[in-house]
Amino acid sequence: MKTAVIGYPRIGALRELKFATEQYFKGDLTEVELQKSAAQLRKRHWDKQLNKGIDFISSNDFSLYDNVLDTAVLLNAIPKKYQQLKLTPIDQYFAMARGYQGEQGDVKALAMKKWFNTNYHYIVPEIEDETRLSLVGNKPFEEFEEAKNNGVITKPVIIGAFTFLKLAKYTGQKQANDFIEDIVTAYVNIIETFEKLGAEWIQFDEPSLVMDLTKEDQTLFKQLYTEILERKGSIKVLLQTYFGDIRDIYQTAIDLPFDGLGLDFVEGRKNLTLINEFGFPNDKILFAGVINGKNIWRNRYDQTVLLINQLKVKSPSIVLNTSCSLLHVPYTLDNEHKLADTEKQHLAFAEEKLTELIELSDILKEENYQDNLEFKTRKFIFDNRDHFENLVVQDRVKSLTEQDFQRQPAFSERERLQREKFNLPSLPTTTIGSFPQTLDVKENRARFKKGEISLEHYTAFNKQKIAECIALQEDIGLDILVHGEFERNDMVEYFGEHLEGFIFTQNAWVQSYGTRCVKPPIIWGDVSRTSPITVEYSVYAQSLTNKPVKGMLTGPITILNWSFPREDISLKDCVLQIALAIREEVLDLEKEGIRHIQVDEAALREKLPLRKSDWYSEYLDWAIPAFRLVHSGVRPETQIHTHMCYSEFSDIIEDIDQMDADVITFEASRSDLSIVDVLRENQFKTQVGPGVYDIHSPRIPSVPEIKAVITHILEKMPLEKVWVNPDCGLKTRGNKEVAESLRNMVEAVNEVKREL
Ligand code: GLN
Ligand code: ZN
Repeated sequence: MKTAVIGYPRIGALRELKFATEQYFKGDLTEVELQKSAAQLRKRHWDKQLNKGIDFISSNDFSLYDNVLDTAVLLNAIPKKYQQLKLTPIDQYFAMARGYQGEQGDVKALAMKKWFNTNYHYIVPEIEDETRLSLVGNKPFEEFEEAKNNGVITKPVIIGAFTFLKLAKYTGQKQANDFIEDIVTAYVNIIETFEKLGAEWIQFDEPSLVMDLTKEDQTLFKQLYTEILERKGSIKVLLQTYFGDIRDIYQTAIDLPFDGLGLDFVEGRKNLTLINEFGFPNDKILFAGVINGKNIWRNRYDQTVLLINQLKVKSPSIVLNTSCSLLHVPYTLDNEHKLADTEKQHLAFAEEKLTELIELSDILKEENYQDNLEFKTRKFIFDNRDHFENLVVQDRVKSLTEQDFQRQPAFSERERLQREKFNLPSLPTTTIGSFPQTLDVKENRARFKKGEISLEHYTAFNKQKIAECIALQEDIGLDILVHGEFERNDMVEYFGEHLEGFIFTQNAWVQSYGTRCVKPPIIWGDVSRTSPITVEYSVYAQSLTNKPVKGMLTGPITILNWSFPREDISLKDCVLQIALAIREEVLDLEKEGIRHIQVDEAALREKLPLRKSDWYSEYLDWAIPAFRLVHSGVRPETQIHTHMCYSEFSDIIEDIDQMDADVITFEASRSDLSIVDVLRENQFKTQVGPGVYDIHSPRIPSVPEIKAVITHILEKMPLEKVWVNPDCGLKTRGNKEVAESLRNMVEAVNEVKREL
């Protein structure tokens, strides 16, 4: 059985591409040098796959910034505002990606959006009425030739016409349908060019096919590919889908004259059923996505072999494939020097996944594959996994009852009690938690981690910072203070490090946007809390002031969503374990006199399933209760806050209200505040703090500007429901701008109140 890879990571095993592009932006590297290091990375990645023996190796999976942006540029979807800058092609490209401010003008970047259900973000192409989509670029062809010169005939990969049109934003009157003719011609030209260059296969990535598709979507897809494939010549075309199943378009996909169809059998829950029900044509090759491209666990060969055997019944020719691009997993275990061998043997990053493809293909060749040594060892490893099982935690999860998810008394009663008890001024002011992580703060942490300073020294420094932070907030006149989070590197890693059940890598970076990466912890076993995590610093902060200090925690859904999850237990069980751990922390904070506790759920929306019909059964039905479990044990007069980093939640607004927090703060300043209308229409009960200024920019918002925002909010919301705060944590900002911005915020509140 042959093997294929949908796409390979491109950042470099040691993030070489990130450092090279950053140097280029600073002017420390020329374009030629940047392109040279990019070419080295491509060569390294092709060689890796070639040496492992992969049959279908991709090209054009590389990108200096983002593949969707590459496709936009390839197809001439370059908005006027960037053309007018008259930059070199590469700088025009980066201007679209990151914005441009300089001698040639001042233009913002194109928008960025989450790539389906991953943590990767793509650049949203903008199509104007004047845009003429046509093949104008060379990148895919150059990279194909480059690979050819390196001895590999690759299968070039391009975002398909359907997905491209679906992801683009239309700025004028025209819509996707108005561009069909042009885009068909462009794709036919792409195919023809590849044919001339000697490509045997071309892969069109169409992940948009796994979404809920309307009749119009289905018609659009059919029309595009009927026309493209009519003129395709002798090259073979692979329709590649991933991140789910294609239940809305399966019949059309198998009816059209594609030569191969790539289906995801990891996340595509219904793909196997579709094949069983509707069959699979004999003249097509099934690229079976069986190696998980998103998670880092070793493949269970025994289960995969069973699956392949089922597929074989319906499809005579199968190629073993990854479930999606390996972009979403780290490079290699070779760079992990701190993980134990007993841990490593359960993990597979990109390189190890290549080995798995080859091993699987060998196993499947054998009549008596059960005897294959590799097969046996692999099964043995899984049957004997030591993963700090914690029976107490397992029991606690099993014995949870309805009441554990229900805080008492009901919201309105708590609201009344809390109002009496706290007697806060109207429009209370607060912040989201973190204060600037200045160089000294990071250095203190780094030196402690390296063992250069003692725990006493490390803690004393943090306490000094907390004292300064409390003094500053008192001086500014904020109502609810925070300790500043100086002890935290990252809101998830910090809790992971203090909970039992997580393991950490040194170099397992995964691309998040542009060349930025994150390093998610791995949930290895049952999660539990062995001792209090945040209590000491919060209590210390509270001892310094008469104003209330808010305790600050990361919520279970966010911890789960920003980690690599286990696959041997359900996400539901896993999140409930984490919720129980955070719940203990909440109760300890309460016991020590902390009256306001914020449980951040920055990433709640991230893993919302792609199909609306799956939202509840696959996610919200356990995610929302997990949050409720965290705080259902507190007294009526303890005020629970939560925070979310975005305001696009109008479609799940009721579910967010059902989290039953007392106060929620969220990003709103950049999103024209339309969310406030939605809150009103839905009679949102939770008190709200829509961010009144954007912390993602170093700009200092003026008093009148913030006043206008507050006034706008008050036109829509009752005064007693509204809090005033920035839209996210302040850790990426500098001390000076933070102090000035917060002073302006408090002044704006005072002016608004005087005028009430
Ligand atoms: N409390 C965290 C902070 O202030 C929240 C971070 C976030 O929302 N991403 O940094
Ligand atoms: Zn935030």
